[in-house]
Amino acid sequence: MYRATKDIILPTTIIGSLPRPSWYTENLSTRSFLDAMVNARFREQYVDTVSVYLREQEIAGLDIVTDGDCHFDNDVGGQSWTSYPPHHMSGFERNDPRPTPAGKGGLWFPRGHILHDYLESRVMPRIVGPVGRGDLQYAAMWKVAQRMTKKPVKFGTVTPELVAFAVGDQHYKNIRDRIFAISNAFNEELNELADAGCPVIQMEEPQIHLLAVRGIVDAVINPALMVEVFNNTVKGLRKKTEVWCHTCWGNPSQQRMFASVQSYKPALEALNQVDADVITFESCSSGGIDLEAIGKTITGKKIAIGVIDHHSLQVERPEEVAEHIRLALKYIPADRLVICSDCGMGREGMSRRHALYKMVALVQGTNMVRRELGKPEAECLAADERYSLVVPVK
Ligand SMILES: [Zn+2]
Repeated sequence: MYRATKDIILPTTIIGSLPRPSWYTENLSTRSFLDAMVNARFREQYVDTVSVYLREQEIAGLDIVTDGDCHFDNDVGGQSWTSYPPHHMSGFERNDPRPTPAGKGGLWFPRGHILHDYLESRVMPRIVGPVGRGDLQYAAMWKVAQRMTKKPVKFGTVTPELVAFAVGDQHYKNIRDRIFAISNAFNEELNELADAGCPVIQMEEPQIHLLAVRGIVDAVINPALMVEVFNNTVKGLRKKTEVWCHTCWGNPSQQRMFASVQSYKPALEALNQVDADVITFESCSSGGIDLEAIGKTITGKKIAIGVIDHHSLQVERPEEVAEHIRLALKYIPADRLVICSDCGMGREGMSRRHALYKMVALVQGTNMVRRELGKPEAECLAADERYSLVVPVK
């Protein structure tokens, strides 16, 4: 159901992660979130960081905010995005993480490539028994953020298949069973999160487009099965809250996973089958090449387009953002269009100020189009001239 995006024209948001403040030196590591929050130093740094993440999104003027993925550790390439669940769910040998054999499925980065470090950092607990929710504690994390803001806080998670691909397994007979066991455990956790009141739950990176573009034909690992996994993971959620499906072309260390620009076209029919209210598409980095196809193929859902590139330190100009939105409006009606970043900005390498001004540009550009449509604009305190400290030359 539509909740956070209901009744807002061109609602704005980011995908999730934000760059860590330099003074946020604590890490959650393998502790459970509630256990870590007993420690006064961790609690102070965590809560202060969530607070500045929210404040920066608010002064930029975003409509839907996130907690910046504040529970992620300061690790190579934002590995926590994948490694948080296996380090906190039950059924995993949490005290004995092992390197994951890499290269299966066609993604490989040779030694000398920055993402080879990312592959080396895939040191994950292996499955030794039936998988369960364990200490994921997503509802607690969401509450800590939501009690500090009146704006809706979106909460996201990696998809179960990516966890299944990244871990060793001494328990399940095959990969399909492993994926669905993790999916069922996530479903339980996410239903609790929805019951707690979370207004948007976002599933990040179902392996639909990434398998489709690589033309991988496998009896088990294929786009159709990934749609089935997605719909199993979110079962029951849309009756309670708004569900988003996030897709992009890569993010670790703010890198693209592919050497050339990719098109969503081979995946759009399958993506339209996911049980979600909103699908997000990386669009800024590819110059909007898929907007027409997306508008034609994705029906009955809202479409979020990325107008901010998370790979680049160049802050987009509001005029560029507005131009991208105008192009999208040729193919997607305004009441079904959502404006976001291509992906998260906090997975190593971007400064807090770059991320802040990218969010400001996102809102300023959206406001330009809202003005043209005669719709209400968002307040953007960060761009309000009245508070400038510079005295202009007369
Ligand atoms: Zn992404």
